[in-house]
Amino acid sequence: MTQQTLTIIKPDSVENHNTGKIIAHLENEGFRILAGRMVHLTEAQARAFYAVHKERPFYNDLVAYMTSGPVWPLALERKDAVTYLRQVMGATNPSDADAGTIRSLYGESIERNSIHGSDSPENAAIEISFFFAASELV
Ligand code: ATP
Ligand code: MG
Repeated sequence: MTQQTLTIIKPDSVENHNTGKIIAHLENEGFRILAGRMVHLTEAQARAFYAVHKERPFYNDLVAYMTSGPVWPLALERKDAVTYLRQVMGATNPSDADAGTIRSLYGESIERNSIHGSDSPENAAIEISFFFAASELV
């Protein structure tokens, strides 16, 4: 079933000049880009986006990292996009990620792990609307 998901190319990827390679990787895996832009998140935006993790010990560091430089949120479409993106991304910790996955190729650490992916179709819809108006999905 064709589905939408949200990815964010994270600050470490932008800093390391991996943005283009990650977009090419996603396109080669059959994702169609519906919307995308570069944005430097404010602290309030990063706190809101990752609010689900607010009780976790790594939350403040995660917010600092996600606001440390610009990121690229992209709304993506593909068959089984949510599950498929999680496979293509690899495990949260790049050292546990399967060879050839984006986190294995480009991630630096469990925190600086190159890319975000929505974890359910429900959260994908919420996260896409966090960054894009419906009229911007083309
Ligand atoms: P994401 O939500 O970014 O796609 P994920 O679903 O694989 O990643 P989550 O458990 O949702 O992982 O964690 C969100 C983000 O918080 C991770 O991608 C990573 O940047 C950071 N993070 C997760 N666990 C840790 C940890 N133990 N220490 C430091 N940072 C962490
Ligand atoms: Mg997550």
